[in-house]
Amino acid sequence: MKIGFIGLGIMGKPMARNLMKAGYKLIVFDIKRGPVEELAAEGALAAVSAADVAERCSIIITMLPNSPHVKEAVTGKGGILESAAPGTIIVDMSSISPIAAKEVHDACKAAGVKMIDAPVSGGEPKAVDGTLSIMAGGEKEVFDEVRDILLKMGSSAVLCGGIGAGNTTKLANQVIVALNIAAMSEALMLGVKAGVDPEVIYSAIRGGLAGSTVLDAKAPMVVKGNFKPGFRIDLHIKDLQNAIDTGHAVGAPLPLSAYAMEMMQTLKADGYGQEDHSAIARYYEKITGTAISK
Ligand code: NAD
Repeated sequence: MKIGFIGLGIMGKPMARNLMKAGYKLIVFDIKRGPVEELAAEGALAAVSAADVAERCSIIITMLPNSPHVKEAVTGKGGILESAAPGTIIVDMSSISPIAAKEVHDACKAAGVKMIDAPVSGGEPKAVDGTLSIMAGGEKEVFDEVRDILLKMGSSAVLCGGIGAGNTTKLANQVIVALNIAAMSEALMLGVKAGVDPEVIYSAIRGGLAGSTVLDAKAPMVVKGNFKPGFRIDLHIKDLQNAIDTGHAVGAPLPLSAYAMEMMQTLKADGYGQEDHSAIARYYEKITGTAISK
């Protein structure tokens, strides 16, 4: 079976490779030629536009930065809807606003094209391993048609509700992760200022109620002052902005997310937007003039 794949960045490229390993023939497109040529050298068929992808296959995955990129690739000039046959399925795996996912879905529906949103959690290592957590939204029959394909890229794929529910779930994930990192940074700075080694705090509490996947992934980075990404502050700002916009639209205030957003905006203004989101710890280092790392 031929599958179209649009968006071959940090996440899309390894996800596309896992589909190829599973035996699917891929037709790939990215606005950058480099990754298209790289995958073509590994056996994929290169396309020259999203419309070209849509002309050549009936299932298309998109893995793009944010809502405007998805709108452009689907509804824009040279986009999927220019040439997609009725019945084509679009699986948008990008993390975008649930409101935008619904808008794109409505444009697809008017053209007889089916769409689900299916953003992922797990980052580049899990994209490479094929063990992403996939959270989808859309009609169950469409989800069931692509579930086996999703499970070549992830270890779980859960249908969370109607269109947009995947991205709402992803935003919930991103709120929890941002606030966890901020809480951890605040707590480790409390330890440092009170004279207790942050590494000792981490090893003493990680098995208790405060222990979490976030703590285990990020505390060692903060303690070492290693903020190599991983997941960049700039991308997390994008997700928090989508969470805050969605919260405002549905009547769910997000005061803690708004605070975490301003911490990240401070770091971005200081030139740390390309660092890992564990660099939220730098915000506390800035306001106390004290380093957490030794
Ligand atoms: P990326 O910036 O590395 O890749 C995006 C790719 O899309 C780029 O290669 C870009 O050239 C291409 N692109 C942009 N507009 C396009 C268009 N109109 N047509 C075709 N190609 C286009 O981003 P990424 O890190 O791979 O993230 C992709 C999505 O996955 C984002 O929504 C991100 O939030 C989400 N995500 C990322 C991570 C992570 O750790 N990086 C983890 C989970 C989810």
